Parts: sequence; C-alpha cells; structure tokens
Amino acid sequence: MTPDHNIDILISEVGPRDGLQSVKTTLPTELKMQWLTALADSGLREIETGSFVSPKLLPQMADAAQLVAHLRQRPDVFVTALVPNLKGAQAAFDAGAQKITLPVSVSEPHSLSNIRKTHVQVFEEVRAVIALRNEHFPHVEVEAGLSTVFGCTIQGEVPEDDVIAMALRMAELGVDEVGLADTVGYGNPAQVRRLFTRLRHEIGVKAGSAHFHNTRGQGLANVLAALDVGVTTFDASLGGLGGCPYAPGASGNIVTEDLVYLLESMGLRTGVDIDKLVAAREWLKRGLPGEPLYGFIPDAGVGKNFHYAGSAR
Ligand code: ZN
Repeated sequence: MTPDHNIDILISEVGPRDGLQSVKTTLPTELKMQWLTALADSGLREIETGSFVSPKLLPQMADAAQLVAHLRQRPDVFVTALVPNLKGAQAAFDAGAQKITLPVSVSEPHSLSNIRKTHVQVFEEVRAVIALRNEHFPHVEVEAGLSTVFGCTIQGEVPEDDVIAMALRMAELGVDEVGLADTVGYGNPAQVRRLFTRLRHEIGVKAGSAHFHNTRGQGLANVLAALDVGVTTFDASLGGLGGCPYAPGASGNIVTEDLVYLLESMGLRTGVDIDKLVAAREWLKRGLPGEPLYGFIPDAGVGKNFHYAGSAR
C-alpha cells in the first residue's frame, strides 16, 4: 500500500529546525543530511532545514547553509528555513532557500526576551527583508510566522485583536503568507477556530500555516479545528522532537507520524508514506541517543483497517 502523491494537505516538516534547536546535543552534519534525505524519501514535500541564526546563539544550526544546499538537490521538496533578521535572510537567500519564515512574536515581552527587539524594530527588519527579496530574490517566498498567538509564557493572555492587527501589519509590509504558531502549547480548538477564521477574513489568501505544539496534549484537536475552517498547511515534527524545556516529559511540535495517520484515515491525502516516515527516526536514534521521541503510530502501528486516502480499498 502506498500513498497517493496528489495532496490535499501540505505537511511542513519542522523537526530539523524546531526540533533540533531545542535539543542539547548537536546532530553531526552528515547524519542530518541522511535524515533530511530519509524525510524527503518518505514523501514530505516541504522541509524546514534549519535556522539562519548566529552559531554563537545556536551552535546546532551552524550548518544551515550546507543543509539547504544538500536538500536543493531534491526537486520534489520545497526547501525552507527560519530567519530571525536581515543578515540571516541574506544568508538563506544566498544558500538557495525557496522560502523563509520570519518569526514575529505577537507578545512584545516575548519578542524582547527572544530576539531582543521591540515591535517597531521587528517591523523595520521585516521591511528590509522584503526589500532585499523584492530586489534580488523575487522567487523566494516570505512567510511571517506569528508566535505566541494563543498565549505567552511571559505575558499570559494574548488578545486576539493583537494577533489580527499583527497579521494585517505583516500583510501590508509585503509578506506572502502569515502563519499562526502556538509556540508554547497554550491553544485550544475553540480559539484555533476563531483565530484562523478571522485571519482568513482579514488577509484572505495570505492566511498561511498552522504550527501547533503538543505540550498540553491539544495538538491534534487543534489540527481538527483548523481543518474545519479551511487550513491546508500544517507544521509538524518527526517524533515530536524537541520537547519543551518548561514542561518536562511533554513533546514538542505535533508528531508528523500521528498527523499523517490522522489525515490519511480521514480521507485527506498527504503524499507521505508512514513506514518510510517511521524509518526516518533511525537517524535520530543514532545521532541523538537518549533523546525522547514521541508518537503513537510508531509504537502501535497503523490499524488493520487503515488505507491511504485515495487508494483502492
Ligand atoms: Zn514551534
């Protein structure tokens, strides 16, 4: 049984960035490349390879440019990277990234503690990145990934009006897409439904991906809520890699293996082969011994009644 490679839902694999940036051990570049190849072989069509930050801040991301170049050998994969500032954007563009994501905290205290920038300074940076893209790299997509959208560990409550105002601001500044991220796993399905509905209403086709963390076990419930209101791109991480430093034992991003199973069982095509996806965990087990990996499907396997969406019964 193999999946249908026409897809209804795009899964953007963020383990190589969101996952690895949260683990202490540095995965050697050679193993990362083999892991990326295994992820691509599973049928994933979009992979966030890393983060173009200062290696002093995140030594495990120092090989971001090499990894982008490696994955660009795969014409079947859209190669993305996280970029916190203009310098990172230049490096990501030069390396050949096809899309960059700029993290923008809706909570200003979070922005200050995370990237030491006020909102006004963030707007300046986004404006500069868009100008650089427009002038020299017109084919590269730019997404603003709004973080702390569903709540913030510093500020607590984040008003929904603030989220929408920030999304509008980003759209005005010229980003192609605005995604909503539940950075700390505070979101619930009712909130997800409200925010994505408003997002689509306000910025139309620029409404982008949903990025959920499973810190409090609400991840897949939030996916269902987002599906209900028309979201078609979801970030996820193999093995839920990364965890959360503030919540011991909690997984990080929603688990790609479980997400693929959920979607395919519901009749939504992802193009991803679950067996190959589970096999890709071997590179993590080898390179990050002792690092917990999460997910129900890798342990339980698919049910006997499972078949891929679109495949013959
Ligand atoms: Zn995240």
